[in-house]
Amino acid sequence: MSPTTEIKTCTKKDCKEPRSGEKPWCKKHLAEYQKEYMQSKEGRLEAQGFVAGVSAMREYLISQFSRFPTGSFLGVDVMKLIRGAKGPAPD
Ligand SMILES: [Zn+2]
Repeated sequence: MSPTTEIKTCTKKDCKEPRSGEKPWCKKHLAEYQKEYMQSKEGRLEAQGFVAGVSAMREYLISQFSRFPTGSFLGVDVMKLIRGAKGPAPD
């Protein structure tokens, strides 16, 4: 016997669409929430932090490869180096 899967609906008033993702809303209301969140101070700070983190990680990985200026790498070596990288330290 397989368990019956209950389809949960969006919790926004008068919305009968099925939920999408972790939040209790449908795709449309989830998109509205995400748009509002990214326009909020918290969302902007999170986006800035993400961009800064990506930038720092990129520079960190470049510094790791710059130790081997004439080295040639196999893809598997690059994957191992990236996977084993501890990442940049916060300022
Ligand atoms: Zn909805």
